[in-house]
Amino acid sequence: ETITVQELANRMAARGGEVVKALFRMGVMATLTQSVDADTAELVAQEFGHRVKRVAEDDIETGLEGAVDEEGEMLPRPPVVTIMGHVDHGKTSLLDALRKTDVAAREAGGITQHIGAYQVEVPGGGKVTFIDTPGHEAFTAMRARGASVTDMVVLVVAADDGVMPQTIEAIKHARAAEVPLIVAVNKIDKQGVNLDRVRNELLQHEIVVESLGGDVQEIQVSALKGTNLDKLLEAILLQAEILDLRANPARAGEGTVIESKLDRGRGPVATVLVQKGTLSTGDIVVAGSEWGRVRALVDDKGRPAKVAGPSAPVEVLGLSGVPGAGETVLAVESEARAREVSEFRQRKAREKTAAAISAGRGTLSDMLARIQAGQQKEVAVVVKADVQGSAEAINATLSKLGNEEVRVRVLHSAVGQITESDVQLAKASNAVVVAFNVRATAQAREMAQRDGVDIRYYSIIYQVQDDIEALYKSRLAPVQ
Ligand code: GDP
Repeated sequence: ETITVQELANRMAARGGEVVKALFRMGVMATLTQSVDADTAELVAQEFGHRVKRVAEDDIETGLEGAVDEEGEMLPRPPVVTIMGHVDHGKTSLLDALRKTDVAAREAGGITQHIGAYQVEVPGGGKVTFIDTPGHEAFTAMRARGASVTDMVVLVVAADDGVMPQTIEAIKHARAAEVPLIVAVNKIDKQGVNLDRVRNELLQHEIVVESLGGDVQEIQVSALKGTNLDKLLEAILLQAEILDLRANPARAGEGTVIESKLDRGRGPVATVLVQKGTLSTGDIVVAGSEWGRVRALVDDKGRPAKVAGPSAPVEVLGLSGVPGAGETVLAVESEARAREVSEFRQRKAREKTAAAISAGRGTLSDMLARIQAGQQKEVAVVVKADVQGSAEAINATLSKLGNEEVRVRVLHSAVGQITESDVQLAKASNAVVVAFNVRATAQAREMAQRDGVDIRYYSIIYQVQDDIEALYKSRLAPVQ
C-alpha cells in the first residue's frame, strides 16, 4: 500500500514542500507526485506530530449493502422502464402521453414536475415507473457507472419509418444490459403504414415479435392520438410479472441518482430512484461522495413525501453537494458513518484524478524515456487548428521533424475545437494534442484531465515545431 506525497500532505493539512523535506531528512527522495509506502508515511506522520491509525481502506465500504433479505420480505415492486428508439419516432410524445394516463396525477390536479423519472398509476391497478430522459445517453451513461436501473426497454419504432440506425443501437443497448424489450410501433394513425415491413426489419435484428411466433410483445400505438396506451401499460405489467420484480420495502433505503442539480432556492437536489428498502425524511444518506440528512422528499407530482419505497422516483433535499447521475444512494446509521464513507469516496476520487494527472504528465516523460531507451520510435500527434491552412502548415512542419531514431506522426488533423473524440484518439495512441488557435470543449478538457492526455495550445507555428522537437531531442525538466 502506498500514498502520494501530495496526498499524505493533504491528509495532514501540511505543505507539500515540508513533507518532501521531512522525507529528505529521512533519506527518501520523492517529489509530490511520487508515492511512498505505508511505513514511510507513518514515520513522516509521526514526525509531524500525528497519531497514526491505519485502516484497511476497503473496510470502510463494507457493511454498507446491509442485510440479506429473507424471501418472505420480498414484495412485488413496480417495473422501471426506459423508452428508446430512433430520433423523431415519438419517444418524447409517448412519455408525455403515458404520463397523462396517470390516475394519481389527475387527483393531484395534473401538476407534474420534471424530475427525470415519473410513476404512473395504471387505471386497472398497478404502477409503472418511467425514466423520462429519453434517448440512449442517459441509459449508457448510467450503465457505464455500473448502475442498472431499468427493468425493461420500450423500443419505439415509427410505423412509417421502420427500423433506423438508432433503433438498432437501442436493441444493442438493451441486449448489453440484458433487459427485455417491448416493441411499441408508433404513429399508426398515419396513412398507409406497413406493419409487416416493420416486423420483418426487426426480425433481421433478431427481434421476433409475437405475431411472427416470437416472444417479444408488440403494441401498436399512437402517441399523438393516445391510442392503445392502456395496452402498452398492460404489456409492461405482464412483462414485469414474468420478471417477478421484488424488493424488500422494510429495510434502509437504497437507490440510484437519476438526475441532480444545484437549485437556487433548495440547494443540491438529487432525483433518486429507490431500488431497495424505503427512504424517509430524516434519514442520513450517502450519495456518491456527498452525504446529508434528508430534509425533504418531493415526488414527481411536486408533492412533499414522508417516505419513498421501491421503484419510486423522488427528489432528495438536504445533501452536502450535488452527486452525479448513476451514483448510489444509501441510508446509513449515523452521521459519523456517512461522513466517513463520503470522505473516503472523495479521497478516492481525488486520488484517481491525481493519478490520472501524473500518469498524463508521465505520458510525455514516459514517452521521452521510451524514446531515449530506444523502445519508442515515434511521437504521435493529433492536430486541431482554426483554419485548414494552419492545419496543413502544421502537418507539413511536423512531418519533416524527427531524426534517424524518432519520427513524428500526425494521427489526425482537422479544423475545429478539440472534442472528446480527439482526446479519446490521443489517449488510445499515447498522443499529444496540438491545439492551434482553438480551444477544447469543457467536456474534452475534463476528459483530458481525467485521462491524463496532454493538450498543448499554440498560436505561432514555429513554437509547435520547437516544442515537439523538444519532446524528442531534450530531456523534459523534471515535473512536479
Ligand atoms: P422523439 O425524437 O423520439 O422524442 O420524437 P418526438 O416525440 O419528438 O416526436 C417526433 C415527431 O413525431 C413530432 O412532430 C410528433 O408530433 C410526431 N409524433 C409523435 N408521435 C406521433 C404519432 O403517434 N402519430 C403521428 N402522426 N405523429 C407523431
